[in-house]
Amino acid sequence: MVDSAFEREGCPFTEMAAPAWLHEADLAAQKYTEAVAAAAEACEDDTKGQTCYICTQALHWKTKEGLVRMCACRGTAGIAHVSCLAEQAKILVAEAVENNLDNKAKEARWARWYACSLCEQEHHGVVRCALGWACWKTYVGRPETDVVRCDAMGMLGNGLLLADRHADALAVLKAELSMARRLGADEGNLLISQGNLATTYARLGRLGEALRVWKDVYSGRLNLDGEEHGRTLIAANNYAALLVKLNRFEEAKVLLRKVLPVVRRNKGDSSMNTLKMRWNYADALFNDDGATLDDLREAVATLEETARIARRVLGGSHPITEGIEADLERSRAALRAASSRTRGAAIIYAAAALAAAAYLARRKLT
Ligand SMILES: [Zn+2]
Ligand SMILES: [Zn+2]
Repeated sequence: MVDSAFEREGCPFTEMAAPAWLHEADLAAQKYTEAVAAAAEACEDDTKGQTCYICTQALHWKTKEGLVRMCACRGTAGIAHVSCLAEQAKILVAEAVENNLDNKAKEARWARWYACSLCEQEHHGVVRCALGWACWKTYVGRPETDVVRCDAMGMLGNGLLLADRHADALAVLKAELSMARRLGADEGNLLISQGNLATTYARLGRLGEALRVWKDVYSGRLNLDGEEHGRTLIAANNYAALLVKLNRFEEAKVLLRKVLPVVRRNKGDSSMNTLKMRWNYADALFNDDGATLDDLREAVATLEETARIARRVLGGSHPITEGIEADLERSRAALRAASSRTRGAAIIYAAAALAAAAYLARRKLT
């Protein structure tokens, strides 16, 4: 068993039994059918008049379910039935186990449970949730200590998280982390599970718990991958973002000043992680009540530059671009307010000095 930072910090979730409903195969089948219907409905406009690239039909021959997509495919590419995607994943994973393929090949095949085979991007939203239920329904009947069953629990937890079913996601992800630790999963996989758990806490507004888990994930990544690794930098940024949300600006600034040069050097200024990290840093600067005029000017300059880059790289309607631009306006307002306060103070000071000089002059005259 891995001695992770998670345990050393005395996290209360070291042993967490799965909720009873999770083990019911009938319920998994029912939830799967509901999730497939919700996914097909959400994709209706995107898939109208199209056919499944796997079975070539519009309606699934057996289940009569509709089509889905929700990946990065465009045009007519990547449209399929959840049942067809699930059947393909199930067969590929079974073959990998049967032929005793190496871990890399097994992982590539397991990816069919969460990523599109054509564009290789992860499915999102309700499609990911339907695939999560498909995966869980496929392996729920295995013994509790089966590794694939444990991984399937993780797929379900992430699917629920991406479909904004946060409370259910939390129960499933806690159970999965607990089982993964019991089964002696490697530290890298445990850190991924912990990261998903932390994200779920944050979505539920449980920011203190989210912060504690991200702190552990960050120190775990530092030990495992080193400070230059992309996964370490993502963990650092998530940890910093929570520090900012919890108004712990000083700690956020110290951390970000340490990791920002690394991310800018390794990933460049146009990478998503660099954009998010600089955005966080600017937020820590201008939201702090003790911000100096120099802090506010630095925040405005940082946001002006990142907004320009985000607009070019992600487009003007991307939520990150919109978020940075909104904070740019707020930071400019904070700078204007602080500048006028400073000017006001200077005027009062000058007026007082004049009055004092006049008083002294009068005294000298009398
Ligand atoms: Zn199909
Ligand atoms: Zn795709």
